[in-house]
Amino acid sequence: MDFLPIFANVRNKLCLVVGGGQVATRKAGVLLEAGARVRVVAPEIDADLAKQKGIEPVVARFEASHLDGAILVIAATNDRNVNKQVSELAQARSIPVNVVDDPELCSFIMPAILDRSPLMIAFSSGGASPVLTRMMRGKLETLIPQNYSRLAAFAERFREMVKTRVTNPAKRRIFWENALEGVVAEKVLTGDEGSAEAMLQKMLANEDNIQRGEVYLVGAGPGDPDLLTFRALRLMQKADVVVYDNLVSKPIVDMTRRDAERVYVGKKRDDHTLRQEEINDLLVRLAKEGKRVLRLKGGDPFIFGRGGEEIETLAAEGIPFQVVPGITAASGVASYAGIPLTHRDYAQSCMFVTGHLKDGTMNLDWAALARPKQTVVVYMGLHGLDTLCSELIKHGMPDTTPIAIVQQGTTQNQRVFTGTLKTLPGIAAREKPQAPTLIIVGGVVTLREKLAWFHPHNN
Ligand code: SAH
Repeated sequence: MDFLPIFANVRNKLCLVVGGGQVATRKAGVLLEAGARVRVVAPEIDADLAKQKGIEPVVARFEASHLDGAILVIAATNDRNVNKQVSELAQARSIPVNVVDDPELCSFIMPAILDRSPLMIAFSSGGASPVLTRMMRGKLETLIPQNYSRLAAFAERFREMVKTRVTNPAKRRIFWENALEGVVAEKVLTGDEGSAEAMLQKMLANEDNIQRGEVYLVGAGPGDPDLLTFRALRLMQKADVVVYDNLVSKPIVDMTRRDAERVYVGKKRDDHTLRQEEINDLLVRLAKEGKRVLRLKGGDPFIFGRGGEEIETLAAEGIPFQVVPGITAASGVASYAGIPLTHRDYAQSCMFVTGHLKDGTMNLDWAALARPKQTVVVYMGLHGLDTLCSELIKHGMPDTTPIAIVQQGTTQNQRVFTGTLKTLPGIAAREKPQAPTLIIVGGVVTLREKLAWFHPHNN
């Protein structure tokens, strides 16, 4: 960091601007906006500037006595010698000085600003590239709506009152975060400050309304970070703690807020780092500590994700939560592998089943699965592949039925193994697909030949 950014209070203080041209006039204008009194020194001063309220025009060449009483100086003449003299004299008296477009002579630089008063954004490139700074300003301009001024002013109006009503600082922070990120803010931004105030008062009426913490049960999709939803991303940036397991790919975990605490709760087959009950309890405990907890899950939380079990505990404990759907492995993987899950010629329905029961057996409704003209997607099925294939054949499915195993779908390591009910167990034994894998059974698998080239991650 080459400069320390600070915001100076110049209200009713004397500032000196040396120079009478356009640049000097602009600088004087900024100082006036910040409430300063401005002494302008130049042999010639623009008449309009001279008569502005707050301006003290001094029609003269610069001399040392003009610095008397000034707390800040800006030199903007077109004579480098004069500028240099101003800079040296000011620095000798320890008065902060800025010389326009001459970083060497500056003891401070003026940032580019985005004014959403009372919200103020100041930025600079430390003199490295004014063009870059200007481009950045353009970007921020579109990113931060004009009416954030309004929101900041609204917050300011209630700041003291909230401070006296909510004395616990941690709670107060949560209160404001809720207000400024939720419906209250929406109301202010649309200009309905009346409703916003009513809501704010309601939130204040009972301290218990100030949520202690909350849980976001978020589906992270099958692996490729591009498949996250906007909402998932927003909450990932907001959470204080991230609780994730091994189905969530590393690039996705890396996209969570940088200073968020990360808790890995494992869960590979038969190697549970934390038992489900312990995960449920952990979520409750973290939320009760007042944290915003992101429970990040592979795919969709409500599809073989035990999302239901986790929110049951949260609901019982009265902890606010929201569930964000994700792209489930079946749709992500099928798409990236070039296998449509339904197709008018091959399958009018699609079933998602899990091949792995709580007790480790595979106990499925085989007759239903073996029916023609449907696609069966098996989650957690690799371990039971032999059983799956032989039972389906036993229940009437032709042993020539196409079947695919997709390993680590949508990631850089995606691999697709195809065969028939008869051949695939042998292929899998030989090739040893890496978890997680998804099994897709049905005629649609043959379409892959036609469609697969379309997908970037395909082998
Ligand atoms: N809630 C998740 C599923 C959790 S069960 C979802 O909606 O996708 C875990 C199983 O999902 C794994 O055993 C595997 O069968 C499947 N799975 C998840 N991600 C996968 C991926 N990227 N590729 C292949 N299978 C995947």
